Formats: sequence, structure tokens, C-alpha cells
Amino acid sequence: MPVLAVTKERRAGETRVAVTPDAAKKLIALGFEVVVEAGAGLAASVTDADYEAAGAKLVPTAAAALDGADLVLKVRGPADDEIAMLKPGAIVVGLLNPFQDREVLTALTGRSATVFAMELVPRITRAQVMDALSSQANLAGYRAVIEAAEVYGRAMPMMMTAAGTVAAAKVFVMGAGVAGLQAIATARRLGAVVTATDVRPAAKEQVESLGAKFVAVQDEEFKAAETAAGYAKVMSDAYQAKQAELVADHIRKQDIVVTTALIPGRLAPKLVSAEHVASMKPGSVLVDLAVEQGGNVVGAKSGEIVETGGVKIVGIANLPGRIAADASALYARNLTAFVGLLIKDGALAPDFDDEILQAALVSRDGAIVHQLLKPV
Ligand code: NAD
Repeated sequence: MPVLAVTKERRAGETRVAVTPDAAKKLIALGFEVVVEAGAGLAASVTDADYEAAGAKLVPTAAAALDGADLVLKVRGPADDEIAMLKPGAIVVGLLNPFQDREVLTALTGRSATVFAMELVPRITRAQVMDALSSQANLAGYRAVIEAAEVYGRAMPMMMTAAGTVAAAKVFVMGAGVAGLQAIATARRLGAVVTATDVRPAAKEQVESLGAKFVAVQDEEFKAAETAAGYAKVMSDAYQAKQAELVADHIRKQDIVVTTALIPGRLAPKLVSAEHVASMKPGSVLVDLAVEQGGNVVGAKSGEIVETGGVKIVGIANLPGRIAADASALYARNLTAFVGLLIKDGALAPDFDDEILQAALVSRDGAIVHQLLKPV
């Protein structure tokens, strides 16, 4: 029977866990023995007793969990000490941030590991249930608005009271992908007046269907700005200049700006300049979801709230980690579906010809095989 290990996440501030008790039950049904390090789920509100009730085996340390594990499921890349404990040749699956966290990949290959990165799962219909980027981005978008509301010193909805009227907050969402659309929906539910922008033309209808107004430079370049995979392209300098001008006029009237713009495999585009920030009213708030990928807002700092001219730039790293119970439950379902492709008739037997596994495979038996990650 193949052994599947779940350990406590070791990255600072990581509260999620890769496998929940519900997922453990499903993994056991697939034919795994599931071994969990004690305390692995506590930060996500899951107790050791919950795992035991689901049929998992609790062990006191990471070493005891990893010793003999054929498959290791993680949220983030494993820490050095965990990598040193891996059984040579084990399979490791997680949100490994493969383009940035190269050291983790190198260390894993040193243990002859076969490694899959959940970020690289293709966005095809069959893989939707495994789409961890979407499951986590959706929660991050929700949470970004909650964080903004917390930091903002005024109310979100319009309120007409005997003592006077409170104006609705004006919220501008930049980047209307999965996170941005959920941010729009959340801000609308709280009663804000919402506008949004994106460089992909498909976003316009989605933004409008949520009751927000679409604001963008809609020229010929914009009409061709979506890749076949549905992602944004890097825009020309000329487009970015026009976009910056439009943003300049719009942003100074906003109370809250939530930025979510990403381009896969690259640093996030800078959309909000220091001048834009300086033009905003004191008390305004920016939340930069892209802060871990370099940030959309000039001056945003990961893990900090930077205040400049009375405007707060919120750079919380790992927003899904602030809603760890739900984030873990959805991620664990993504992983469980993915693991279904690694096991056949109760034995670990990945079908390396499957297009999903092919796309997500970073290294096999210790050799980096992903085209974009291979050493040149
Ligand atoms: P993402 O996280 O890569 O980027 C977030 C958003 O930022 C995107 O909408 C992107 O267009 C936007 N952006 C990039 N540069 C920008 C700029 N300069 N100015 C303004 N906005 C900019 O994207 P995502 O959330 O992963 O989603 C991308 C698309 O893929 C969406 O259309 C989404 O609906 C789609 N999607 C499809 C599937 C599927 O088919 N299985 C799954 C998830 C998402």
C-alpha cells in the first residue's frame, strides 16, 4: 500500500494544510495509507482527532511522517529539513512557485524526487477540479476586500440616517481574473460602488455581469490581448502609457483600490505609480494582491501596511492563509483530484503521458524536465 505523508507547513505565516480529514478519507479510499504529522492542521482549525477519525495515522514528527512516504502533499515547497528526510525517489506535489523558488527544486532533485507543481496544471475542462490557482485566488479576492474594509476608516455601503448620509465607498479593482471578479462581487455585496479594469476584452462582460463598470483603454491592442490559454499578455509601452493616463484620472476619485494583475511566469505589471498614490485622498486604501510577485503598486511591501500621505498600501502576503480553513478544504480537493491521476488499482503509477501530469511535471527521478525550468 503506498504511503502518503502530510506534514505541518514550515514557511513563516503559512496556516493552510494540504490535506483535510475529508480529503484523507478519499485518499484512503484510493488505496493510500495516510500519515499525518501531529498538529499539521491546527492553524487551519483541524485537530489531530479529526484526522484520526478520518482513518489517518498520526505520528509525532515530520521525520516519522516522511520516513517511508512514497507521496508527499504540501501547500508550499518543503523546507530544507523536510527535503533531507524524504525517501529518495518520492513524489512531491504542492504550490511550489517553481519559477521563483529554484532552490527548493534543486534540493528536491538532489533527493531524486519526482515533483509536480500545482500552479502548472493546465486550465482545460478536465482539470478544473484541480485548479488550485483559481481556488486560492477566489478566496484571496474575497479576503482582500475584507482587509480593505478593515483598514478603511469609513463605511462601505451608503447609509441614510437621521444624523445624515454616509456615502458609499468607491472601489476600483485592477485585474478582473478569478481574484478580481471575487473582489468585485464582495465589494458589491458590501454596498460599494465598483469599477474595474483589465487588459483582456473577455473581462468586460464578466465585470459588467457583476454590476460593476468597466474602465479600460479599448484599442486594437486590447482586442488581441488574451493568449490562447486565457491569460494576459505583456502590453506595449504605448498601451501602458495610455492605461496609466486613464488610471491617473480615475484613481484619484477612488476610496479603495484592489490590484490583482498577474502575467504567468513574470513579475507583476506595475499599474499604480507613486504619483497615482499621491493623488488619492487621505484615508484611501490600496490592497496589492500581487505583492508576492513584485507588486502592482509602487511602494507596496510584502507583509506590511505602508502609509504615505495618509494613504495606506496593504501588502499582505498569502491572503488565502487568512481564511485557512476554507482555503485548505478547497486546495485539498484540488490535490485529491490530482492524486487520482497518480494511482491505479491501489498502486502508485503516474501516467506520464497524461496531458495534465505532463504539464505539471517539474522533475522526474531527480532531473528537471519542464521546458521552462530546464537548466540551459
Ligand atoms: P491571473 O491571475 O494570471 O491575472 C489576473 C488578472 O490580471 C487577469 O485577468 C489578467 O488579464 C489581468 N492583467 C494582467 N495584466 C494586466 C494589466 N496590465 N492591467 C490590467 N489587468 C491586467 O489570471 P487568472 O485570474 O488566473 O485568470 C485568467 C483568465 O483565465 C480569466 O479569464 C479566467 O476566467 C480564466 N480561467 C479559466 C479557467 C478554466 O478554463 N479552467 C480557470 C481559471 C481561470
